[in-house]
Amino acid sequence: MPRFVIQQHHATSMHWDFRLEASGTYKSWAVPKGPSMDPRDKRLAMAVDDHSIGWGDFEGVIGEGQYGAGPVIVWDRGTYENLRDEPMEDALAAGHASFWLDGEKLRGGWSLRRIDGRRWLLVKRRDEHANSGDPVSERPESVVSGRTIEGKRLRMPPRGVKKGTKRARQYEKIKKSVKQQGASEDRAEEVAARTVNKERARSGESRTRSRTSTQDMSSGRRGGQRSGSSGPKGRTRDQLYNEAKKLNVEGRSRMNKSQLQRAVDNKKR
Ligand code: MN
Repeated sequence: MPRFVIQQHHATSMHWDFRLEASGTYKSWAVPKGPSMDPRDKRLAMAVDDHSIGWGDFEGVIGEGQYGAGPVIVWDRGTYENLRDEPMEDALAAGHASFWLDGEKLRGGWSLRRIDGRRWLLVKRRDEHANSGDPVSERPESVVSGRTIEGKRLRMPPRGVKKGTKRARQYEKIKKSVKQQGASEDRAEEVAARTVNKERARSGESRTRSRTSTQDMSSGRRGGQRSGSSGPKGRTRDQLYNEAKKLNVEGRSRMNKSQLQRAVDNKKR
């Protein structure tokens, strides 16, 4: 399966670099508002130079004086399926691509259509994953590190830690002690956040979920829920879909819940 990645990048202005693997490289667009789950939103996507596949793993701060100076995080990544009959390269050359994304945040069909020159539109297709949620604001964190972009900085906030709780006090305590050892504010925040996030995961405290995230998350990657073991009844389409993905069920992106259930059962037989 070819890959896709979306890197949030605060250069001269904020944008989300949307990249699709094709012809051994990442075809790339800069999307000023980022992707939407709402088919009514037509998001401007400016075609930019191809980027190497290796660049898709980059997260960090591009230094002052360099092209694109500013922080970058891996906002989402995964694989995609071409929904058109022609090869992706041909579809893009013709200015109309349609694909199914299997990311950690984004899932479902999208289309990319060229308007003129470098200007394209990225639009969510109408399917069961379409909704009015705004993943860009609801799930701002890196899928790799949990870091967020704040201003021109990368930050590592603790996830789902409420004020006044034991975890919040633990966070402040660690941050203070790391700073006393001579670390910067950023470094101290990062160490403290990593520690409390790990502690929460270990003790099985549930993570706070945003409204869209429960639908769009791949459940297997999240702490707590182990979907496969909950028995054949009561599994969500997403859980069945993930299982179908593991079993390499063809055409799974176009199946409804009961079709997925049948296909998964057949594969296991
Ligand atoms: Mn960029």
